[in-house]
Amino acid sequence: MENLLDQYSHVVGNEVIDHLRQLANPLKGMKILHINSTKEGGGVAEILNRLIPLKRELGIDAEWEIIIGEREFYQCTKKFHNSLQGNRDEVSDNLLEVYKSTNANNFERLRSKLVDADIVFIHDPQPAALLSFCKNERKGRWIWRCHIDVSHPFRPVWKFLHEYIKDYDASIWSLSTFVQQLPHPLYLIPPSIDPLSEKNVELPEKEISHYLDSWGLKREIPIITQVSRFDRFKDPVGVIQAYRLIKKYVPVQLVLAGGGASDDPEGQQVLQEVKSFAGDDPDVHILELPNDAHRAINALQRGSNIILQKSLKEGFGLTVTEGLWKGKPVIGGDTGGIRLQVINHYSGFLVNTPEGAAMRIRYLLKHPDIVNKMGENAKQYVMDNFLITRHLREYLTLICALIFGSNDLIELKMPAQVQSV
Ligand code: UDP
Repeated sequence: MENLLDQYSHVVGNEVIDHLRQLANPLKGMKILHINSTKEGGGVAEILNRLIPLKRELGIDAEWEIIIGEREFYQCTKKFHNSLQGNRDEVSDNLLEVYKSTNANNFERLRSKLVDADIVFIHDPQPAALLSFCKNERKGRWIWRCHIDVSHPFRPVWKFLHEYIKDYDASIWSLSTFVQQLPHPLYLIPPSIDPLSEKNVELPEKEISHYLDSWGLKREIPIITQVSRFDRFKDPVGVIQAYRLIKKYVPVQLVLAGGGASDDPEGQQVLQEVKSFAGDDPDVHILELPNDAHRAINALQRGSNIILQKSLKEGFGLTVTEGLWKGKPVIGGDTGGIRLQVINHYSGFLVNTPEGAAMRIRYLLKHPDIVNKMGENAKQYVMDNFLITRHLREYLTLICALIFGSNDLIELKMPAQVQSV
């Protein structure tokens, strides 16, 4: 069987893969450790699942570990998450102590790996305090990778986390508007999707129909879908409000599909709120899917007419990228990372209210030719900007910059030159 990297060349071309190999050459054998807070659910796990095997294939000794805590730890970090995205969610001193002690315990558990790694990527606030226990022991560079919208954080929480994050060697952000002042180099690297993952590969029509049938969805009636964890920032209630506005005029089916993430303690409560708001409308389908239901979500996105992501805050929104990649216009909340992906009137629409979303959905349902054109634009835009190969190239470039410094120029050769060397 063809090796993993060569499989990508069919999507992005040989030159892109060749550049990745050249960039990775000086990094061969290096230990790169990624730490986040869950292997299941949410965008970060989705990305790491795909990125680690690719780094390994390039000869890098990449590993992925998670920080593990008790219920109170996740309560605390969910409050961090909500506060960094702008809610005034006070965190008690008791929870802050749990945060510190959980990081201390995890440092002891992962000590040898953390100390030995050449590069440590710490994703989001949950494991951010690990570095403070490392003191002078560490061998490598540490990078804090922020996946959330920190454009208007609740200050006391940012101030608390800033004390840890300022000591990192660099940080990575998805959007310039999220960036906070820090005394180290700041990099802008948006996330990405993997075109070859189960979530995104082409699927046979038969398989798509099979999934839609199993959920009781009818293909002759338009399907509007939002795939998301049950989180208030994703505004599932606003999605139902938009659906009700359209339903008065045209038959339509709504799907809200989501599972939990092991680091999100609010999911069940939000799911109950959504179910009770939806009532017993037979055309609202709330699908609770297991975390590994990647092909099912792929089929749902492909079988839908329009993809929604009506978030009120969004670090990036892989669900938007996934929808665009499937040639669907996306109607997304006019916020954060969605603005980077949905080009208004070109690959979808940006909206601020349920009324706005309803108006744009009705417009698209009446204009299938525009749906097709926007869908083509959408796919091409992801191809050019948001595939894993671009993401990996930028990570490798950043690692080279941190390790070799800005004076050491890595010159990438064109394929013809490579053959003649
Ligand atoms: N996802 C999933 N099952 C679900 C809900 C979401 O597999 O029930 C996936 C979704 O397809 C996407 C990721 O989880 O790949 C969510 O990433 P996003 O950036 O949209 O949001 P986050 O959850 O990180 O806030």
